[in-house]
Amino acid sequence: MKCNNAWLGIDNPFLTALASGFELHEAVVEDWLALQQAAQADGIDCQLLSSYRNFHRQLQIWNKKWRGEATLFDKYGVALDYRQLDDNGKIEAILTWSALPGGSRHHWGTDIDVFDKRAVEQCDNGFDLVDAEYRSGGPCYPLAQWLDNNLSRFGFFRPFTEDNNGVSVELWHLSHAKTAADFEQQRNVNALADVIAGADMEGKDAVLSRIDELYHRYVLNEGI
Ligand SMILES: [Zn+2]
Repeated sequence: MKCNNAWLGIDNPFLTALASGFELHEAVVEDWLALQQAAQADGIDCQLLSSYRNFHRQLQIWNKKWRGEATLFDKYGVALDYRQLDDNGKIEAILTWSALPGGSRHHWGTDIDVFDKRAVEQCDNGFDLVDAEYRSGGPCYPLAQWLDNNLSRFGFFRPFTEDNNGVSVELWHLSHAKTAADFEQQRNVNALADVIAGADMEGKDAVLSRIDELYHRYVLNEGI
C-alpha cells in the first residue's frame, strides 16, 4: 500500500474536511453523517470533539503533559501529583488517557470522539470529557446508550471498552471498523520506535527503553 506512514500520523493522503472544519478519512464521512443524522432524529445532538490528529499535534500533547503543563489523571480520573511521578510514572499516567505520538488511532482519520453538544450546554457544569459524563446521570448518558444500540448499524465500534490496565474505557471514542482495519494491519513497533527516536519528544529515552511493552500494552491496547 502507498503512503505507509499514514498510520503514524504523517502524510495521511485520505483526509477530507467537513463543513465544521474537522478532518476525517474520506471513506468514513458518509457513515459518520448518517449516524449523526439518525441520532439527531432521536433527539441526540451528536457532535465531534476530536477527529483526525497528526503526529505533530500528538507530540505537543505528550510534551505538555510530560512537562507538567497539563494535569495528569489516573485511570479513575483522579488528578495525580506531578512532582511525585518518576519517568515511568509519567509514561503510564500519560498513556492511560493519551496515545504515544505515532500510536494514536486519531492519526488515521477513522476515529472520533463525540459528545451530546446540546445536553452539555444545557447542563451548565462545564465539560471535562470524563467517564462520569457518559454514565447514568451525566449529560452524555442518553448519547452513550443510543450509541450502544446504533453504532454498528453505521459501521462503527468502540475500541476502548475494557479496563485492562492499558488505555482507559472511553465511551466517547468511536472507530470506523472497516477503514481502521487497514491501519491496524500496518502497525509495527519498529516503525513506531524509529519515528519517536527522530522526534523532539520529552522522555523519549525512557519510552524507547520499554517500547515493546508500551506498544503491546497501549498501542495494541492488549493491557497487562
Ligand atoms: Zn479518542
